[in-house]
Amino acid sequence: MGSPSQNLSDLWERAQSSFESTEGYGPYKNWIAPLKPGNKLGGVLFLEAPTRFILDWVANHYQEKLLAIFQGLDPKIEAIKLVVTGDAPSQTSPTPAPTEANTDATEDALTLHLDPRFTFENFVVGKSNELAFAAAQKVSEAKEVAFNPLFLHGGVGLGKTHLMHAIAWNIKKVHPDRVVIYLSAEKFMYQFISAIRQKDTFSFKDRFRSVDVLMIDDVQFIAGKESTQEEFFHTFNALIDQKKQIILSADKSPSDLSGFEERIRSRLGWGLVADIHPTTFELRLGILQAKAEKLPPETFVPKDVIEFLAGHINTNVRELEGALNRVVAHASLVGRNITVSMAQEVLRDLLRVYDKQITIEDIQKKAAHHFNVKLSDLLSSKRSSEIALARQVAMYLSKTMTSNSLPEIGRRFNGKNHTTVLHAVKKIESRAKESSSLQEDIAVLKRNIQG
Ligand code: ADP
Ligand code: MG
Repeated sequence: MGSPSQNLSDLWERAQSSFESTEGYGPYKNWIAPLKPGNKLGGVLFLEAPTRFILDWVANHYQEKLLAIFQGLDPKIEAIKLVVTGDAPSQTSPTPAPTEANTDATEDALTLHLDPRFTFENFVVGKSNELAFAAAQKVSEAKEVAFNPLFLHGGVGLGKTHLMHAIAWNIKKVHPDRVVIYLSAEKFMYQFISAIRQKDTFSFKDRFRSVDVLMIDDVQFIAGKESTQEEFFHTFNALIDQKKQIILSADKSPSDLSGFEERIRSRLGWGLVADIHPTTFELRLGILQAKAEKLPPETFVPKDVIEFLAGHINTNVRELEGALNRVVAHASLVGRNITVSMAQEVLRDLLRVYDKQITIEDIQKKAAHHFNVKLSDLLSSKRSSEIALARQVAMYLSKTMTSNSLPEIGRRFNGKNHTTVLHAVKKIESRAKESSSLQEDIAVLKRNIQG
């Protein structure tokens, strides 16, 4: 066995070549080669990135991939932590290495699980998230427990985890003596189950019941998981009785959380329930502007590009950030300025989904034209084989290219039954398997409809 540092550089060599062989030379050279292995503390491997930009990119695109590679090489690695060069803890740091069993429990281990970017300062506030933001600030600053629990809920990618981390960071700053545990419900379950397996539920209970602040992210995960839920509920009650702060997040409000016992669900809603609504155009603008300002000065993102992105990518903040990153990375790789038409080109696949509202009417018109039949015939009940084929293909495309339900599609085909539509979809699917000319018809039509 070599020295630990030798092992580390050897591990890193092997991880790099594994990455390159699956992801290709380009991504390897641009994003992975600039990284350096830092230290290993407990199960956490530090990787140093030379710039914040590279760090963000790797974190957004390759973190899971890298973790999987490392875990394949060394199963003891539990997490990867990316830091900007110089920010990594050294081997002689006074921070004790977390032991395997209590990775989440020691206070120092807390920061290993918090994303340094997820702070209040980096959170852009708008109408849709102002209540959640205010509540999050309040619980992190309050001297005494203000509302218990704080329950944050909202759809995916809208900032729940960001706010949870921001609360934890702020508590560390304002009340450094408080013991905080932050973990996902999934981890909570995992730790509970391994405590049972190791016949050591006592220390598990003790650990979670002796904190000042318990934060559990994505509690919907323990829906239907009875024994974990039971344990969670005991912990919950014990902490509430001791006036300790509990902060939870979920993708639904307590009353909509299915798979939870009624008594648990109702208690979850006892404190303050704050929901994060889908983003508005203004908020998206604000988030993009804030992100653009943090880019290196040579990367200028013009205002019209920011507006374009805010207007066209309206799902969630994660996708919005991803889109901006893609445009920026593309510009820096090919050395071009960022423009709207360039963004359109780089994000073609994304924009197609959000941008073009494909309608059943358009599909019908184009299918009639393609198969050279009259639109009125396509919408009729005529059964000649040309007309029936055009109609069935149009039904098939209406189902696969729009989000309309079968009954709705039936109605728009002059009041056909939903079973007729379903039959058409199945029929076209099975016929296309056998007929390459039908496959081609469908491909041409699709392209034409997507514009
Ligand atoms: P959730 O946990 O609700 O699925 P996250 O907290 O992981 O969502 O947010 C997804 C991404 O969007 C993160 O990178 C986060 O920093 C960013 N984000 C979400 N909301 C905001 C906001 N209001 N301001 C700045 N960044 C945000
Ligand atoms: Mg989350």
